[in-house]
Amino acid sequence: MLVSRSIKGERRAMKKLILVTLVLIIALGAWGSVIITYATTPHTIPVPTPAPIPTQPSQSKELPVTPVDSAKGNIVYHGSSSLPEVALTFDDGPSLYYTPQVLTILHQYGVHATFFTIGENVRLYPELVQQEYYAGHVIGNHSWDHPYLTQRSAASVYSELSRTGDMIQQTIGIRPTLFRPPYGAINAQVEFQASRLGLISVVWNVDTRDWDQPRSTESVIINNVLKGVSNGSIVLMHDAGGNRSRTIATLPKIIVALRQRGYQLVTISQLLSDMQTGGTGYMHVLTKDVA
Ligand SMILES: [Zn+2]
Repeated sequence: MLVSRSIKGERRAMKKLILVTLVLIIALGAWGSVIITYATTPHTIPVPTPAPIPTQPSQSKELPVTPVDSAKGNIVYHGSSSLPEVALTFDDGPSLYYTPQVLTILHQYGVHATFFTIGENVRLYPELVQQEYYAGHVIGNHSWDHPYLTQRSAASVYSELSRTGDMIQQTIGIRPTLFRPPYGAINAQVEFQASRLGLISVVWNVDTRDWDQPRSTESVIINNVLKGVSNGSIVLMHDAGGNRSRTIATLPKIIVALRQRGYQLVTISQLLSDMQTGGTGYMHVLTKDVA
């Protein structure tokens, strides 16, 4: 039975692959002239420029949901418990209003972080994602439009993640390898679809609750970090999706406080590569052979 299901699954996957390839061929044909024009036109590496700041930030998308543990074995919650490293992560961006401010602060303090971007925002503000990437930050996949992926079909989950991966690749030239589920809502199905796309699912173990506005004051946000942080912590913050003025206000204080406690601030990629031995938080299981 397992073998039979596996073969059927492979056939379905192969059919899907063929379909995707055909669509890509058609799309490439349509874009061929654009690409040729671009290739033959003098161009330079994008230079980071300050984005205009709108006066009204968009409304919040975040809701208080903690990561589901049903697929815990395949999901990264934190880095090595024996290394004094902490990863700051910023979800839901980019946004014209807050992302440039986050980038400025990170630059001022010499911090590299991880941005889990939403596909439709990457399409809107590609130059901000390029600024993040060229500043040395890591770009992750946060789905196309921030749905509860646990309520979607396998095909829909795959589409959300692949479409976003395509958009990020189109924007910065490489595909993301890290995925954060919107709302931290993840199960074995979502993790499996992510792994099919070569994505490691990353949640967090320290929630600043900066999304909980106006309840989370600046002191609450800082305290949420300091009371929850330990070696290998992954800290959840947001640079879009609502009023993030307190995220901006607290970020310098959080950076200083964490460094005073002896933590080095790293990207998720750095966190994962540093925990080759001795870590307990990362237990990614190869699922491609599972029916
Ligand atoms: Zn989010």
